Amino acid sequence: MKIAVYPGSFDPTTNGHLDVIERASRLFDRIIVAVIKNPEKTPRFSFKERMAMLEASVPHCDNVEVESFDGLLVEYVRQKKACAVVRGLRAVSDFDYEFQMALTNRRMAPEIETVFLMTDYRYSYLSSSFVKQIAGLGGDVSGLVPGPVTAYLKRSRQKKGER
Ligand code: ADP
Repeated sequence: MKIAVYPGSFDPTTNGHLDVIERASRLFDRIIVAVIKNPEKTPRFSFKERMAMLEASVPHCDNVEVESFDGLLVEYVRQKKACAVVRGLRAVSDFDYEFQMALTNRRMAPEIETVFLMTDYRYSYLSSSFVKQIAGLGGDVSGLVPGPVTAYLKRSRQKKGER
């Protein structure tokens, strides 16, 4: 059984994330999408909301589960008996951070591989922060996020009283 963990903030889930999840689910027997409870950047959505958005976006993927974690990623991956970490790569700007993270994780846990999936050309410009910005200004995010995420963005905008 080959298990992989796909960690991220998912604040919120975008179609770029979903594309990585779907493709990874064809490469591994089981994918655990792991929501980082307390990411470095203060998230817009609570971890419960971020998990709920993911769960609502992946019902068609039988071998995908959504969980959350705190603390060291490699410890979590070991605990789950996974062999790999999946990450997505967009522009060159992602590379430095991802490279550093992959090598640091390998130093701590040489038995765990980081597997990078190149973004689809449709999503190469797409990020959660871009989506939040567009939604916050009342722009149309359809095509950028899975359907269920749209409602969360709308609610968040109403709560903030943005126009
Ligand atoms: P993090 O805060 O850990 O970077 P994100 O939710 O922003 O969490 O991203 C999780 C992973 O998904 C990262 O590896 C990121 O590069 C990847 N990712 C984000 N957006 C896209 C996209 N549009 N296409 C492919 N991969 C993406």
